[in-house]
Amino acid sequence: MAQPHSTRSTCPYCGVGCGVIIERDGAQITGVRGDPDHPANFGRLCSKGSTLHLTASPAVQQQARLLQPMRRMQRGAAPVASDWATATDDIANRLADIATTHGPDAIGLYVSGQLLTEDYYVFNKLAKGLLGTNNIDTNSRLCMSSAVAGYKATLGADAPPACYDDLALADTVFVAGANPAWAHPILFRRLEDARQARPGQKLIVVDPRRTDTAAAADLHLQILPGSDIALFHGLLHLMLWEGWIDARHIAEHTSGFDALKARVQAFTPQETARLTGVSEFDLALAARWFATAGRTLSLYCQGLNQSSSGTAKNAALINLHLATGQIGKPGAGPFSLTGQPNAMGGREVGGLANLLSAHRDLANPQHRAEVAALWGLSDVPATPGKTAVEMFQAAADGQIKALWIACTNPAQSMPDQTTVRRALERAELVIVQEAFATTATARHADWLLPATTWGEKDGTVTNSERRISRVRPAVPAPGQARHDWLIARDIAQALEAQLRPGQPPLFDYPTPEHVWNEHRESTRGRDLDITGLSYALLDTLGPQQWPMPEGAAQGRARLYEDGRYATPDGRARFADVAYLPLAEPRDARYPVSLTTGRLRDQWHGMSRTGTLGRLFGHAPEPVVDLHPQDMAQLRLQAGDLVQISSRRGTLLLPAQATDSVAPGQAHVAMHWGDEVLGGRALPGQVAAGINALTTGAFCPASKQPELKHTAVRLGKADLP
Ligand code: SF4
Repeated sequence: MAQPHSTRSTCPYCGVGCGVIIERDGAQITGVRGDPDHPANFGRLCSKGSTLHLTASPAVQQQARLLQPMRRMQRGAAPVASDWATATDDIANRLADIATTHGPDAIGLYVSGQLLTEDYYVFNKLAKGLLGTNNIDTNSRLCMSSAVAGYKATLGADAPPACYDDLALADTVFVAGANPAWAHPILFRRLEDARQARPGQKLIVVDPRRTDTAAAADLHLQILPGSDIALFHGLLHLMLWEGWIDARHIAEHTSGFDALKARVQAFTPQETARLTGVSEFDLALAARWFATAGRTLSLYCQGLNQSSSGTAKNAALINLHLATGQIGKPGAGPFSLTGQPNAMGGREVGGLANLLSAHRDLANPQHRAEVAALWGLSDVPATPGKTAVEMFQAAADGQIKALWIACTNPAQSMPDQTTVRRALERAELVIVQEAFATTATARHADWLLPATTWGEKDGTVTNSERRISRVRPAVPAPGQARHDWLIARDIAQALEAQLRPGQPPLFDYPTPEHVWNEHRESTRGRDLDITGLSYALLDTLGPQQWPMPEGAAQGRARLYEDGRYATPDGRARFADVAYLPLAEPRDARYPVSLTTGRLRDQWHGMSRTGTLGRLFGHAPEPVVDLHPQDMAQLRLQAGDLVQISSRRGTLLLPAQATDSVAPGQAHVAMHWGDEVLGGRALPGQVAAGINALTTGAFCPASKQPELKHTAVRLGKADLP
């Protein structure tokens, strides 16, 4: 049990969603430990989670926290202290003015999977219900939108069908484009436990790099970058050839198999080996373990999602589960991992440019009418909103005049930073709502609004397995910091006075629970129905998985156990997807494949983890990982500065020799931005970390950019 000065909450870092117990002394957070009763982690925490309390130390608060509204009177000048009344009025006036002069689509809101569900809900309603624009998108677009589109294309709903307990029940675990050993460490420990308890369990890892997860695998399929679809089609070809498919599941519960069957005919073992670089022997072994070992669970993340064919990659993997009947039963299913703590919650409230509340689709007139009725409006706008890359491109082109950015750092995390920086410079009004004022984006803000953060916030998040957990405040907000939902609510109320005077209020929320209750009502009858849940039940029952409709005693662990999918006819749809090349294949000028990834002890742009020296012990500085063979060819020694150039920019980084990358490939962690690398930019270049190089090309279905692959050339830096 938590002690009197202890508060149960949730880790704010990754999508595993571990429960934490926060210790405090007065108004100071003094410790954190894993919650033994939380079903995600059962008391364990990783290196990031177990040091959370240190990121709330007085020294860090003093150095890094934004504690009062700040206003920049002109671009390039230092911001000056202001107050909430002035900030709220000025922002509301300027947004109303821009909406009236240029139309509501001249405003863009860019939010974050770090926000709580309640924050997300208010922002989404503010944009679509009050301003009248669907220009609200989120950094989750960079993280999981291909998983969303993949699920909807095949299973009919954005709903991961499996759960964490399946790790211990699977006979084969198939990890594709994910490195849980570093990016989802507590899940990986659960996987290690499962392998110890059941030594026969097989682990297959698909990754162009030999990551720590791949090193632990029974079979590492070290594919050529971007060849995932060829691999999945090739495995299906083998399964068909060997008769390892579940003909009954296909006949009774799916549609569209014949077209896919015809397509994968071309993916013979020889051809698949040529396309993927994986031997025919390993292909045959992988197909056998996947299809015949018993129960197969797939885990996948950015390696599939962050791709210009991300949706097709997701769907091609789900095809394998549908063809073999590895879904809807314990220990089996396609299971996308979310990167962020509340990427799922953002999807639930429809906080993306193409979605509406409770997994409704903006393009569906019936769904728009339902949401309008819920909000007491005549309609919500039908014009598709701009997704992340499109939004910053539109701002760079002068179409979007105001950018309101909450809890995220696009001046580091978005691809093609030259365009992003141009957008931030060209927009007439840039509002940045942040807990930490140290981000690259904050330097572009006209208004800096101080937000609360972990240990102070109150609301809910949903983790990768659809489990809703409470986030509770242990200490009061420091300085004048306010909760994100409250900042949005107050500005919304000021805007209402101008945009819909005399009409019933839309944002009458005294507490986050009122917001959540409205969200809950929006889910009634939907696939994620949580009308049987409440804040009070989350207190007594603990975290629950959706759906949990009225009358249910608890949430549901797995979906589709009755073989009925979320499509209109109840049948899952095989996706007949083509194998598409990379957006930017290697060529003679840019002959190296650059991929990006995460480190074990850092999180996103390091605004929080970067405040702790001890978390740099594992990887003290940014480096470019190169195969020793390439190092020798380029006459590089370890530590030599390498000039890395793509079609968009150049970056200088020290070289590190490792055989974790294959020859012809390079890898750079995505955590560092221009705070560290600024001094090393070449004249005329944007020094914005690795995203000075990456491409804004995105998947046409999910609009998720191809952050995982950039064609580059390398050379020893020739510094004066
Ligand atoms: Fe936090 Fe993720 Fe680590 Fe759990 S695994 S403690 S959620 S960072």
